[in-house]
Amino acid sequence: LIQLFRPLDMLGMVYRTVRQGLIDMAEMFRLIDTQSEVQDLPGAPALVVRHPVVTFDDVHFGYEEDREILHGLSFEVPAGSHVAIVGPSGAGKSTIGRLLFRFYDPQAGRILIDGQDIAQVTQASLRAQIGIVPQDSVLFNDTIGYNIAYGRDGASREQVINASRDAAILPFIEKLPDGLDTEVGERGLKLSGGEKQRVAIARTLVKDPPILLLDEATSALDSRTEQAILATLRRVSQHRTTLAIAHRLSTIADADRILVLDQGRLAESGTHAELLGARGLYAEMWARQQAEGGD
Ligand code: ATP
Repeated sequence: LIQLFRPLDMLGMVYRTVRQGLIDMAEMFRLIDTQSEVQDLPGAPALVVRHPVVTFDDVHFGYEEDREILHGLSFEVPAGSHVAIVGPSGAGKSTIGRLLFRFYDPQAGRILIDGQDIAQVTQASLRAQIGIVPQDSVLFNDTIGYNIAYGRDGASREQVINASRDAAILPFIEKLPDGLDTEVGERGLKLSGGEKQRVAIARTLVKDPPILLLDEATSALDSRTEQAILATLRRVSQHRTTLAIAHRLSTIADADRILVLDQGRLAESGTHAELLGARGLYAEMWARQQAEGGD
């Protein structure tokens, strides 16, 4: 009976946390054993990553036939660099993340990791290389240790503890009545937004992927927690190829490169200083967010 209820239980929780953004959909597919829209090609090889360079090469994509969302998008994220994607609502930012994780295939163009077309390799090998820190993480009705170990099959207790330390959630865990064995989720301990975010970061650290996809990872937090989480993310993303999808510009001003997306096209790109100097869309968005305060 437990076998039957656990997936249902998780599914309910997943549904409640599904938003427009990028959530742990791969985990959801794995849990409920559904097929995603894309299929592995027969005999597809595994993705082999030596230099985690991410390349979008003239990518055209729409969710529906008559409505193209990305109109020939090209950009490169060099290995180990930190690139942020910003732009007005509906510009296609989250769509880029969904394509990189291959929830969908482009209608034209290619997405490459280390020179390999992600549509040609197995989905499992692709997703093993990418860690997502989503807007709103899914926590399973299980122990906090299970929730962190979930990043990697067969993770050891030591790996979980090290990841918790690096994600700055270990002091919190050590104060719990049963430590890592404390039940969390709907029927257990409720975690705050910041704590959930740190569990997501720890889960990603256990996975130890060369590529990180951050989806406005700090959207639901107060500014002190946000600053602390940002500092952790900065540390964690060092030496990893990082693609950050952001709404608030202050969180990504230090990116190596910022891509400004507007209606599915690359409007501008550069560093924060270069983009301010260009007095274009980015400078306008920056001025607006400064005026609105909080940023
Ligand atoms: P926001 O800043 O508001 O999160 P975004 O830049 O991340 O926006 P996307 O979520 O990538 O934008 O959406 C781009 C466009 O694609 C929007 O017009 C949206 O309505 C559309 N869209 C997104 N998801 C789907 C979907 N599953 N089916 C159909 N259209 C979708």
